[in-house]
Amino acid sequence: MQPKNSIVHLPVYQPGKPVEEVKRELGLTEVIKLASNENPFGFSEQAKAAIQAEIANTSIYPDSFSTTLAAAVADYLQVDRKQLVFGAGSDEVILMLARAYLVPGDETIMADETFPQYKHNATIEGATSIEVPLKDGKHDLPAMLAKVNERTKIVWICNPNNPTGTIVGKDELEEFIRAVPSNVIVVLDEAYAEYVMDASYPDSIKYLNDFKNVIILRTFSKIYGLASLRIGYGVGHPDVIHFINQVREPFNTTRIAQAAAAAAVADTAFIESCRDRNAEGLAYMMAEFDRLGLSYFEPHGNFIMFDSKLPSQQVFDGLLRRGIVSRARWTYYPTHIRITVGSREQNVKFIQALEAVLQEAAVLG
Ligand SMILES: *Cc1c(COP(=O)(O)O)cnc(C)c1O
Repeated sequence: MQPKNSIVHLPVYQPGKPVEEVKRELGLTEVIKLASNENPFGFSEQAKAAIQAEIANTSIYPDSFSTTLAAAVADYLQVDRKQLVFGAGSDEVILMLARAYLVPGDETIMADETFPQYKHNATIEGATSIEVPLKDGKHDLPAMLAKVNERTKIVWICNPNNPTGTIVGKDELEEFIRAVPSNVIVVLDEAYAEYVMDASYPDSIKYLNDFKNVIILRTFSKIYGLASLRIGYGVGHPDVIHFINQVREPFNTTRIAQAAAAAAVADTAFIESCRDRNAEGLAYMMAEFDRLGLSYFEPHGNFIMFDSKLPSQQVFDGLLRRGIVSRARWTYYPTHIRITVGSREQNVKFIQALEAVLQEAAVLG
């Protein structure tokens, strides 16, 4: 019983530690998880009502084409329904893209560090991942472009980038998309798009009119606060969306997720309030990092990657003992920590814990 070669050495995804596990292991009563960029403000009340109403239909298979949700999202983005495909999180859209387009021998280009699922799914399909180091925490688009050749199938751009939080601006992105051959798919993973307030951030939906090879990924897991329901989507040319639908499992998203997402899209007041509260949180955290003399990458999502100037595992462990779950151990950034922006109260507790960890390290020398 030998599985396919491409997966033998593949690691199992290590999620941010669940709160219950940390409490049990460390005997803590209060634990704050700032490790997975979840929404600290929960989710829309209208989505909650939609979930409650949909429970009655649990014995019936969901709508395979998410028709109601597709209409809501098409309206919100001003695109055609045929340009949308839904997945069990945008993670599944990444998987479906790899499944539909990548074969052994193909090359696919991504940044390093970036969201690990691009490489993970490419590896399963036997494709070769070409990882292009970030430059000052940002995508190096000219270097990525230089790697495009006749074997290249997909280029992944994570905007804002996870884990660094930096963005690619509209001018540089447009230049890149124009230069990439039209047979190469350009994936714009915009999991945090709704948080971005910077004027240079591209309104990427408008590229879809001119570039058949562009596909945009969005999710309901982040600002919409529906992470546990597993729902996200891709927006692209109808032909590309059709190919993704051909590899999609018939009932890949649930009734409850579809209903919740459709209600969540309509509740723009909740999203605006989360965006504003996140902006306040970012400002607070940046001011505190400045006060502590710690540098960070310019954040545009709901997380910040900062340089602790200590081995990141040490800071991670110190924060964990104080009830804060963060993310550490990045390949290229051995002293950096990624921290999600929480509620005001959570952010204050995080900074207190961080100061205690830094002081402890200074005392221990
Ligand atoms: C969280 C995240 C996703 C996908 O999350 P889903 O829960 O699968 O929708 C995709 N890309 C990036 C960069 C993310 O941070």
